[in-house]
Amino acid sequence: MRKLTIDLGALANNLSTMRKLVNSDRETKVLGVVKANAYGHGMLEVAKRLEQEGIDFLGVADLEEARTLRSAGITSRILAWLHDPSDDFVFAVKHDVDLAVSSADQLMRITKASDSLAKPCRIHIKVDTGLSRNGVTLTDLDELLALIKTAVDQGKVIASGIFSHLSSTGVQEDLAQIARFDEALAKAESHGLNFEVRHLTASDGTLSYPQARYDMVRIGVALYGLSPFSDNRAKEFGLKPVMKATASVVQTKRVPAGEGVSYGYLYKTSRETTLALVPVGYAEGLPRNASTKAKVLINGKEHFIQSRIAMDQFVVDVGDASVSPGDEVILFGTDNLTADDLANAAETINYEIVTRMGGRFIREYVG
Ligand SMILES: *Cc1c(COP(=O)(O)O)cnc(C)c1O
Repeated sequence: MRKLTIDLGALANNLSTMRKLVNSDRETKVLGVVKANAYGHGMLEVAKRLEQEGIDFLGVADLEEARTLRSAGITSRILAWLHDPSDDFVFAVKHDVDLAVSSADQLMRITKASDSLAKPCRIHIKVDTGLSRNGVTLTDLDELLALIKTAVDQGKVIASGIFSHLSSTGVQEDLAQIARFDEALAKAESHGLNFEVRHLTASDGTLSYPQARYDMVRIGVALYGLSPFSDNRAKEFGLKPVMKATASVVQTKRVPAGEGVSYGYLYKTSRETTLALVPVGYAEGLPRNASTKAKVLINGKEHFIQSRIAMDQFVVDVGDASVSPGDEVILFGTDNLTADDLANAAETINYEIVTRMGGRFIREYVG
């Protein structure tokens, strides 16, 4: 009745497209970001396919997500970067999860965990170069680097990486962050620390700044076939949408002119017409504020959702088009109706559209 079709072949295509791009001048590793249930696509299925395709690293926000991956038998390198003060780093050390380190306190907890197992932990220093989220500031960096150098010499941690994240505000701001990252790299070197992977860019920075790809890029949204920019250019980059959201029409009826449709009567019929009922609502993640603005495709024809999107369903005035119960309704995920279209209708970004899809949708994996 409601389906998210996840095309893992498209995922593999997008990985290959991004790999070709970043390996055009020199060898660059790719970290595939699978946080937030792989942006709504299903974390385990996506991670398994990326592992089959030989991804270099998988990236998650929380350690809990890393735990889910390891429990399912994923053996790829995993980096987790957003830690709660109560997170169990013993699990990370035991199961070889690389950890981002943003503070001396986190480092202390990590070395405690590695002591308890007599096993070193792989760490990536997270540097705040101007996003002001997690990460150590350049001011506090020297102090943290000194502590890390000691822990490396004691065999408690392995200096696997150093990284940062761009704010994607504009070219000037991004270039300033790249300069600060270079400054951080120089500081690390002056402490005698050499990292396996230096990494800065996500999808947008990877596409915009070839000079900032360093040893690895962290790719999320582009793997899912979506552009990180707001101008719907995924196709231009050779990216194919991985998620397609569809549902079946569950009822149609002929109604006269002047009928009010759905809550609040945002729409009234202006002539005799056919209404089609579609069983997808905001409980599935369809944004309620896209009411009257979002489009769907039924039998290849575009129709606006003119009335209020409800929790479980919405109604489409299909005029005199021949539409019957059981006909497929495409919400997004084709070349001519994309997640960007729905994002624009809801005044948000494609990232939020795919990530919020859930509720009673079932996910079906193809490719
Ligand atoms: C989510 C995230 C990414 C991936 O970003 P995309 O724009 O989806 O490629 C990369 N790095 C970090 C630190 C992130 O949090």
